[in-house]
Amino acid sequence: MRILGCRLDDVDAHEAGERILVLARAGDGAQVVTLGTEMVVYAQRDARFRAAINASALSLCDTVGLLWVARRRGARLRGRVTGVELVEVLCAGAARDGIRVYLLGGAEGVAHATAERLRDRYPGLAVAGSRNGYFEERESARVAQDVRASGAQMLLCGLGFPRQEFWLNEHLKATGCGVGIGVGGSFDAISGKVRRAPPAWRKLGIEWLYRLVQEPQRWRRQLALPVLVALVARDALGARKENAS
Ligand code: UDP
Repeated sequence: MRILGCRLDDVDAHEAGERILVLARAGDGAQVVTLGTEMVVYAQRDARFRAAINASALSLCDTVGLLWVARRRGARLRGRVTGVELVEVLCAGAARDGIRVYLLGGAEGVAHATAERLRDRYPGLAVAGSRNGYFEERESARVAQDVRASGAQMLLCGLGFPRQEFWLNEHLKATGCGVGIGVGGSFDAISGKVRRAPPAWRKLGIEWLYRLVQEPQRWRRQLALPVLVALVARDALGARKENAS
């Protein structure tokens, strides 16, 4: 389905994981997007970003807001797949299948700490390499080259949006990875740099509230949901008018 011109695929975490592992082995440099509410709002004013999302091999619904809007519009979406959940599923599968993973993104040391945690949790996980996500655009070719030299097959890219989508769009092929996935701030959560909402909060779909309490300076980002709802309502009204005329 599409929400305001952005594609969303109806897959759950398990199916997404299996499909991505197949892409990792295929080696063609496929891009995977974990689509969030803010990304759809941002895509309204950046056609290049929207094109990058829609050209992806898989576009997953990352936020409760987006899931809610999608279902209100009658879409058949089984559920959301968060970045953290996806990283966990992928690493479990990669450890099982012997797929080499590279972690790119986060502040200095975060990707490394995430790799340690993931290796503890998924014994046998082959982490080909990791590096922080604070580098200049002109260094990108070298970063991509480093990933290639590591022999990684799956690139977990946590540079935040829209940078990770653009980066993968431009440099994924050069990394030699079969698949690259934009995972936002997942490394911060897995490494423990930011505290994750307790399971009960997550089950209720209110981890955004937990995050807001933890990092109140992010309040502005929470405005994306009411903006999205308003944009969708305007879009639906426009379509109704067009049908009537
Ligand atoms: N980040 C990065 N390089 C940059 C900008 C951001 O590696 O140039 C990282 C940042 O450290 C954080 C992630 O990207 O780990 C973005 O996290 P945020 O929580 O903002 O993303 P979300 O999950 O909400 O998309």
